Amino acid sequence: MKRKRVVILGATGSIGESALKVARDIPERMEIVGLAANRNAEKLAEAANKVRPESVCLVDETKIDILRKALDYEPRIFAGEEGLREIACLTNGEMVLVAIVGTGGLRPALAAIEAGKDLAVASKEILVMAGEIVMREARENGVHVLPVDSEHNAIFQCLEGKVGQKQKHPTSNIQHPMSKAGGSGLGVRCSMFDVSDVRRIILTASGGPFRETHAKEFDDLTPEEALKHPTWNMGPKITIDSATLFNKGLEMIEAHWLFGVEMKRVEVVIHPQSIVHSMVEFADGSTLAQLSYSDMCFPIQYAVTWPCRVPNTLPPLDFSKLSKLEFFVPRYGDFPALNLARRAGEAGGTLPAVMNAANEMAVAAFLDRQVSFPSIWQIVEEVMNRHASVAHPDLDAILQADQWARAEAAGCVKSLKR
Ligand code: NDP
Repeated sequence: MKRKRVVILGATGSIGESALKVARDIPERMEIVGLAANRNAEKLAEAANKVRPESVCLVDETKIDILRKALDYEPRIFAGEEGLREIACLTNGEMVLVAIVGTGGLRPALAAIEAGKDLAVASKEILVMAGEIVMREARENGVHVLPVDSEHNAIFQCLEGKVGQKQKHPTSNIQHPMSKAGGSGLGVRCSMFDVSDVRRIILTASGGPFRETHAKEFDDLTPEEALKHPTWNMGPKITIDSATLFNKGLEMIEAHWLFGVEMKRVEVVIHPQSIVHSMVEFADGSTLAQLSYSDMCFPIQYAVTWPCRVPNTLPPLDFSKLSKLEFFVPRYGDFPALNLARRAGEAGGTLPAVMNAANEMAVAAFLDRQVSFPSIWQIVEEVMNRHASVAHPDLDAILQADQWARAEAAGCVKSLKR
């Protein structure tokens, strides 16, 4: 297997850092040719100086001078949102790792697909907002969409070779459950799976820091408490999403699009140890699971080296030290995010984008101490209730719904302000 030439969007974040670690760990398999960030010029330059990619990009154009000064070599420098799309399409790049928090990764991801680059997707938001479009474009352009989210990467590994794998790439005749346009939408690897043998996809959730907290204490929870994730070390937005369980809700919709399974076949189980990263139950009642310690380097590496398995320095599981693996039913009543996400995913259209945007606004307001912890799902539900969803939206309709939801959520934040 030759070295995969990778562009990392979101290089200064938690996933970006893990991806840089993977590249250091398996240099004979992974070469970084582009690094992009939003505004952290110093951290981007520091990473670039170590890895020396041929191109770097900073979205915030006002900080380009800081970036230039901090670089100790002369890469090609891209700037702004246009620059982000350009670096995603680098001639020399083969794969784009989309690890931008929020919705900023959508346009560069679509540009990369159009340019024929494989995608490694960490940014679940882009599949929640525009899963139908992303998967259709990937199919039509014959590119692979490899999941980096640990749960989806686990499902991908469980499905590989276990379900009727289609021979022909990239086209397929299987009808995606939500797609009127036809085609499989079986996301990963462009429709190479036939998931009719899959009875259930079971996403595991750690349960977050408030797994055992009584609901009557929710009003007083602080951002600091919510940011203390018991098992994963991640960026602030996804950490709050893990505390509300919106993260798992977003992942349900992500799984629906990636694997082409209806929402009713996607379930969630609480697994506090975060060792089993997800499971697939097949038609014959057998269940396959993927296990490892909770380190994002595992799924990132597999997305990059797929279909090969490559030795690394990551610690394998020591079963003598794993005292127990527990599984619980989620507290649906106390954590309404799961049912809201199921409702959004089943309704489809612009509702998932609205849920996602309202959640982003509500999380930011909570982190800013403007609203309480339970206000997060109250705001999301209120904005979803007000929305008239558009079926099979194009990109413009999705982005419009996103903007509308942000404005509505801002209004809700104002009225709920403490
Ligand atoms: P972080 O907050 O740690 O990092 C976010 C990254 O995105 C930074 O590099 C930031 O740049 C960049 N960024 C933010 N906005 C923009 C924008 N508009 N344009 C370009 N770049 C932007 O997030 P995480 O790494 O935790 O998460 C990234 C994505 O991966 C999220 O979608 C998350 O849900 C998903 N994910 C994360 C996991 C994890 O373990 N962290 C696990 C599974 C999925 P800058 O630093 O310059 O602001």
